[in-house]
Amino acid sequence: MSAAEHCDVIVIGGGSSAFEAAVAARMSGAKRVVMLEKAPESQAGGNARFSHTGFRFVFSGRDEMREFIPDVPDDIYESMQIDEYTRGEFIDDLNRVTQSQIDPVLAAHMVDKSNDALHWMKSAGIVWAPDKFVVVNGRRYFEPGNILQPLGGGRGQLRQWRAIADRLGIDIRFSTKVIRLHGDQSRVEGVRVLTPSGAYDLTAHAVIACSGGFQANAEMRARYLDVGNTDFMKVRGSRHNTGEVLRMMLDLGAQPSGHWQWAHMSPIDLNAPRVETLLRADGVGNTMNRYDYPLGISVNALGVRFFDEGEASHAYTYAKTGRTVHLQPGSVAYQIYDQKALAHANYGKDADATRFEANTIAELARKIGLNPEVLANTVETFNAAVRTDIPYDRSKLDGRRTEGLSPDKTNWANPLDEPPYYALPVTGGITFTFGGVGVNTDAQVLNTEGQPIAGLYASGDVIGLFYYNYPACTGQTRNVVFSLSAARHAVATAK
Ligand SMILES: Cc1cc2nc3c(=O)[nH]c(=O)nc-3n(C[C@H](O)[C@H](O)[C@H](O)COP(=O)(O)OP(=O)(O)OC[C@H]3O[C@@H](n4cnc5c(N)ncnc54)[C@H](O)[C@@H]3O)c2cc1C
Repeated sequence: MSAAEHCDVIVIGGGSSAFEAAVAARMSGAKRVVMLEKAPESQAGGNARFSHTGFRFVFSGRDEMREFIPDVPDDIYESMQIDEYTRGEFIDDLNRVTQSQIDPVLAAHMVDKSNDALHWMKSAGIVWAPDKFVVVNGRRYFEPGNILQPLGGGRGQLRQWRAIADRLGIDIRFSTKVIRLHGDQSRVEGVRVLTPSGAYDLTAHAVIACSGGFQANAEMRARYLDVGNTDFMKVRGSRHNTGEVLRMMLDLGAQPSGHWQWAHMSPIDLNAPRVETLLRADGVGNTMNRYDYPLGISVNALGVRFFDEGEASHAYTYAKTGRTVHLQPGSVAYQIYDQKALAHANYGKDADATRFEANTIAELARKIGLNPEVLANTVETFNAAVRTDIPYDRSKLDGRRTEGLSPDKTNWANPLDEPPYYALPVTGGITFTFGGVGVNTDAQVLNTEGQPIAGLYASGDVIGLFYYNYPACTGQTRNVVFSLSAARHAVATAK
C-alpha cells in the first residue's frame, strides 16, 4: 500500500447498519469516519430503501413507548393496545423460530441491548412513528414487541441518518466499491476501493463491514441455498447486495456462521420486479408484500392448500413462507380471500397489485388458470372443516381452526363464503441471506480459530445470526445493536 489515505474508522456500506456504525463511531470520539458505499447516490441505502423498517425491542409498556411517539394525539394513543415486551418473550421468540439454533450469547446480547439501542437512536435524533396495526372493535393491536418504525419508514430512516451524518461531518463516498481488505486472519488495516475515477487505498484503526448479504448474487444463491432454482428468485431489496465483502472476509480466514443454506424469503406479488420491489406512493415501504395469508387460504397451481396459514401471526411465519411458496409447482401460489377476510386485510390493495375478483370460486379459478372443480372442492372442504363453534378473534391467536384437513389451518379459520372473492398470485421473494461471518459481542469478526481479527468488525445482514426463520423486525434491531457494539469497541481500543 503506497500513500494510503488514513482515517480512524472505515465503514463499508451505505445502509442502515452502516449509518448506525458511522454515527456511533463519530459520537464515541472518532474524528475521521468514512463510509464507503458501492451504489451511486441515487441507489444508495441498501435494503432499508424498500422497507418500512419496523424495530422489535424490549420495552416496559405504554409510558416508555409514549417517549418515542409523543406527537401521536392522545385519543389515538389511548386506542393503541401497547403491552410490554419482555426479555424472556424476545428470547423465546428467537429460540422458537430459529429452532434453537441461534447462538445464545449473541441472541442475549441483541435482546439485552435492544432497549438501550432504541433510546440511543432517539437521542441521536431519530424521530419515530407507530408501526402497522390491526383494528379490532376500535382498538389498534400491534405485533408483540413491534410498535415502532422511524418516521417515513426505511427511506425516512435513511434521510434522517444522512442529515445526522452530515451534521457530524461523516465523509460518505458513493460509487465507491471495496475490492480488497488489507490484512490477514490476525489483523485488518484498511481497504482498497474502486471508483469511476480509479482505485485507491485507505487505512484505519478499524474497518466495520456493513455490506449486507449475498441475496442479489444469483450465482451465490444457487451455490448456497438448499432449494432449487433460487438463481431466478425475485430479490426484494437492493441490487447491490452481492456478497463480495463477505467473500473477502472468508478468504481472509473469517469464521462462517449462520444458516448458509437458508434465507429470509417471503410471499410477494407474482409480478414484482426481478430485483428491488416497487415502492408505495408515500415512500413508506413497498406495495409487493403479501402477508395477509393468515386471513384466507393459500393454494398452489394444482388448486390445493399446502401449509397452515394460521400457524401464527405473519410476523412469525412470513420469513419462511416465501420458501414454502418457492417449493410449489412453478414457484407460484394464490391467496384466496372473501369479503370477511378482506375487511381485515392490509396488502394487495395498491394500484400496482396483481389481483383477480369473481363472484364464484369456480369463476375465480378460471380467471387465474386453475381447475374450477378442484378449487371449488378445496374451498368447500375447507369451509366444512372450520370449527365455527370457536369464536373468531383477529386480535390474538384464537384457536379457531379446521379439523380433519391435511394441512389444517390452526387459527383464524373462517369459511370463505362472502363474495366477491379475491385471488392474489404470489411467489417467494428473497429478502436477505442468513449465512455470514461469526462475531463476538463487540462485533469483532472471528477467525476460524475463534479469535477476533483485530481491526475488523461486522454488523447487519453480513453477520450470520439467524436460522430457518426470523421474528419480524429483528434485522433492524440487530443492525443497531451490533453497529453500536462495533463502533464503541473500535473507538475505545484505538485510544
Ligand atoms: C423489502 C424489505 C423489507 C424489510 N422490512 C424490514 C423491517 O420492517 N424490519 C426489519 O428489521 N428488517 C426489515 N428488512 C430487512 C432489513 O432491511 C435488512 O436486514 C437490513 O436493511 C440490512 O441492513 P444492512 O445495513 O446490513 O444491509 P443493507 O441495508 O442491505 O446495506 C448494505 C450496503 O452495503 C453496500 N455494499 C455492498 N457491497 C459493497 C462493496 N463491495 N463496497 C461498498 N459497499 C458495498 C450496499 O450498496 C448497501 O448500501 C426488510 C428488507 C427488505 C428488502
